[in-house]
Amino acid sequence: MMKFYTANRVLTGEQGEVHAGAGVLVDGDTIAWVGPAAELPPDYGAVERVELGDLTLLPGLIDSHVHLGFDGGPAPVERMKAESDPQQLVLMLRSARELLSVGVTTARDLGARSFLDVVVRDAIDTGIARGPRMVTAGRPLTVTGGHCWFMGGECDTDDEVRRMVRLHHKMGVDLIKVMSTGGFMTAGSAPWFAQFTDGQLAAAVGEAHRLGKRVAAHAHGVEGIRRALDAGVDTLEHCSFVLPDGRMSVDDELVARIVASGAYVCPTVNTRYAEFLATRGEDFKPSLPVLHERGAKIIAGTDAGIDNVPHYAYVAGLEALAMVGLPADQVLYAATARAAEALGLGEVTGRLRPGLSADLIAVEGDPLADISALHSLRLVVARGTPFQPDPVGEAALPAPPAPTGLAMAKAVSR
Ligand SMILES: [Zn+2]
Repeated sequence: MMKFYTANRVLTGEQGEVHAGAGVLVDGDTIAWVGPAAELPPDYGAVERVELGDLTLLPGLIDSHVHLGFDGGPAPVERMKAESDPQQLVLMLRSARELLSVGVTTARDLGARSFLDVVVRDAIDTGIARGPRMVTAGRPLTVTGGHCWFMGGECDTDDEVRRMVRLHHKMGVDLIKVMSTGGFMTAGSAPWFAQFTDGQLAAAVGEAHRLGKRVAAHAHGVEGIRRALDAGVDTLEHCSFVLPDGRMSVDDELVARIVASGAYVCPTVNTRYAEFLATRGEDFKPSLPVLHERGAKIIAGTDAGIDNVPHYAYVAGLEALAMVGLPADQVLYAATARAAEALGLGEVTGRLRPGLSADLIAVEGDPLADISALHSLRLVVARGTPFQPDPVGEAALPAPPAPTGLAMAKAVSR
């Protein structure tokens, strides 16, 4: 039987659109109808009513930048390097549940090992595991020894770059991630250095687009941002304008070009942003307010999994966007409809609209008045199926157990 979710406030995901006393009719995994609760057309017949009363019903949230294979603790890279692939897979399934437990019904993984993100995506798609709808990038393309080389995406020449993109296509990823600059998490790599030449980036983007895949570029430094933009990437990750002396300073001309290009910007502000602002000196100028004021298409993504950014801290990332000066309706837009468009899912999710996937959440309070209301999550429905959130954040993630496979194999053969 179809389910009819009604609530005092319904945010459809169209910017600022609020319906009082409205309802969302769910047929299987799809939204069948949205409108005033009293006006549900009788031709739908008997429906199961789920009356949410004084809650706000809104589209499921989207984290446009996560790493399921990083644990969000103090040393995620060390853990990834120490774990076997099967151990990573277990961690990734756990990370996915954490995201869904805080209302994230779609997430884009921008860097994983051994194409395990594709395995997790398919497990969720087929219903074997619960988690957000995953959009996967496999191994980030990086230069030898470059940022996140340990995920296995090293390539150095134009042809190697093309071959790496083709391998990703063969392995079933949804998009291509390219490390246009170094990063903070990889020893021997620096965020202000551009990693690939203009030609190599053009080869990556050209091959990806030919295969119908979007490209996300990790880009901190100004030169790497410029090259990624010239190559025609679809989303710019971080976009922090880091200079060789470690300062961050917005390049006005480059901002104008980003806006003109129509590329989406995922600034990856997260639960650590307040601490970051507090510990930076006066030379630090965060790029996000400028990007937003000038009209760049900001989308929400937290880089979930990196050091001290757990997957369950998603809402703190939205609070950081609000802290930087985005109005609540813009934060919600960045976290739902616009993120869906950036991920190529504008006709799949991100809005409460007939025909789209039934991804919805309900919270106490009104997130348009205070984005922190999203902490008070009371309902999660992913692809039409309700999900009872796991308790999250109550205890630190235990260290991985020592691999036991060899010992077990011996025991069995004896
Ligand atoms: Zn990342």
